[in-house]
Formats: sequence, C-alpha cells, structure tokens
Amino acid sequence: VSARLSEFELIRRYFERPTRSALLGVGDDAALLRPSPGMTLAVSTDTLNQGVHFAADAAPALLGHKALAVNLSDLAAMGATPRWATLALTLPRTEEAWLADFARGFLGLAERFGVELIGGDTTRGALSMTVTILGEVPEQRALLRSGALPGDDVWVSGALGGAALGLALERRELALPEPSAQAVARRLHQPEPRVALGEALRELANSAIDVSDGFAADLGHVLERSAVAARVEYARLPRDPAFGALRADAAMRELERRCVLAGGDDYELVFTAGEARRAPLEALASRLGVALTRVGTLESGTSGLMLLDERGAPLPVPGGFDHFAGRA
Ligand code: ADP
Ligand code: MG
Repeated sequence: VSARLSEFELIRRYFERPTRSALLGVGDDAALLRPSPGMTLAVSTDTLNQGVHFAADAAPALLGHKALAVNLSDLAAMGATPRWATLALTLPRTEEAWLADFARGFLGLAERFGVELIGGDTTRGALSMTVTILGEVPEQRALLRSGALPGDDVWVSGALGGAALGLALERRELALPEPSAQAVARRLHQPEPRVALGEALRELANSAIDVSDGFAADLGHVLERSAVAARVEYARLPRDPAFGALRADAAMRELERRCVLAGGDDYELVFTAGEARRAPLEALASRLGVALTRVGTLESGTSGLMLLDERGAPLPVPGGFDHFAGRA
C-alpha cells in the first residue's frame, strides 16, 4: 500500500464508519458483537478474484456491490437476516478514486440491508476481495440444503439465465438491443440478493440454495444433501425476458438452454416446500413483488435431477461451474 495514502489512513477514510449495532467495530484488534437472544449466528465467506470473477477494468462501484451481494445471497439462502460483515481487500496500489467508488458500492448496499462493516484486512497484491458476512436466524429455523422432502414442490424466484447472457454479451458472443443489453449487464454486475424472500421462507420452505453456479448444479446440491430426486419441467423454468430479444433460431435456443440451466451468477433462490405452502407462497410473491415459480417436484430416491420436455420426455442436463473441474 503506497506511501501517499497509508494503510491506516485508507481504512479510516474509506471503511471506518460510526458503529451502530456492533459493540465495537473497525479500529481495534477485533470487533465485538452481541447476537440477539434466541438467535443462531449464520456465517459465510465469498471471494472475488480478478481474472476469475471480474475483469481488470471492472467498475469499482460495481465490484463493491457484488462482493457484498454474493455474500448477502448466501445468507438469504439460509433464511438468515444479515447484520455484520468484514472485508479483506487486496490491492495492487492505492488509488483514491478507485477506493472511493468501491467503498460507495459496498457501503451503499450494506446500508440498504442494515449491514454494518465491522472490520477487515488491507494488503497489497493482485486485486481480490473477500467478504465474511454474519447474520442471525432464529434457532432451528435455518433453511438447510439437507431439509428437502419427497413430495415437496421445487420453486425458483425471479428469472434465470440473465447474468450468463450478460456475460456472453460482454464476450461479444452475441448482440442484444437496448434495453435488454443493459438489463442483462445489470443482472451480471449488480445482483439483487433475495434477502427479504429468504427471511420469509424460514416459515414456509423446507430447504433452499442460491443460484451461483447454475440452476441444475445448485438444485443438485440440495438433492444430494437431502437424498431426494427431482422432476423439473424445462418449459416451466422462469427465464430472463432478454431471451425474447434473441433471434429465434436453434443456436440461440441452445444458448438460452445453457444460460437458464447452467448459467451462474443469477443469485435467485431455489427452494422446496410442501404442497400446503402453495397459497402462502403465492401471497408472498405478490407481497414482495418477486415472481415465485413452481417448476417441479421431489421424489424419493437418489437418481438426481430428471429434466423433462413438455411431453414428459427426458432432456440432457448441462453441468454447472466448478473452479477446478471447469465446465462439465
Ligand atoms: P491488525 O494489524 O491488528 O490486523 P489492521 O491494521 O489490519 O489491524 O486493521 C486495523 C483495523 O481496521 C481493524 O479493526 C480491522 O478490522 C480494520 N480493517 C482493516 N482493513 C479493513 C477493511 N478493508 N475494511 C474494514 N475494516 C478494515
Ligand atoms: Mg490486519
């Protein structure tokens, strides 16, 4: 970290804020927190690395937003209420304009969800950001991947595939007219974590996961942890409206299939709930203004995900993103 702006000055200027709900925030050797009575702490960490998760010229305000958003999404998928976060930032140099924008993106989203930045670490190296988020969930109420039951409906929030379409657009693999182009770029760079939905699902769902690696792969984690199988109708999967702006040919339908089933970074919630929850979930969808779509059902057995076309014939399932295995 450069001599112009010392590490300590940098932290003070951009990341130190008056503490609110923490007993002690940024500035000491550790933060001090008091969880609310009757609540369990939910803790999750996610890293964004240059060259893997974002390009060298990525807009810093969007990076700040996304670094926190992906963590908020993990808590949403647990049904937890986010409270505190730490930020470990590795920077090649200290550029004040960059830091100011990054902090604006990060702290703006934190403010919106009532999350307090309580500490972190600042080091020099290749650009990377690691956020640890802490939240609270009432005892025995967390939404686990292992909680799904045979007979549950499978639900998806919002729409799938938009972030992957945004990435394909950025790589110039296709062209899209406005406003679709801007909408999918926003899906990729400014994901909206489904925090309020996750909190409400505590009372309604049996299991949940967020879509970070692709619908099929992420639902697959639930199926594996819960030892159940799923039948999902491809035609019922909610897809980003931008797919409607693509040419109606076979190549574009195949691209859509890959984006909807295997596209990462959508940060929607996939959850399972008993049939008796259909009406309350529909009421919840209109209360929150978030589409909730029932896409299939769970069965006993460990045969995994069975994807079906409109006539009930099986369709191939593409794999999701894996940092070490690559794309299946
Ligand atoms: P130490 O040397 O004890 O690890 P640091 O100098 O790394 O302390 O950090 C000083 C204080 O600033 C600590 O409270 C730490 O949590 C906080 N801090 C460091 N970097 C960040 C950051 N990027 N965002 C928020 N807080 C930070
Ligand atoms: Mg430190």
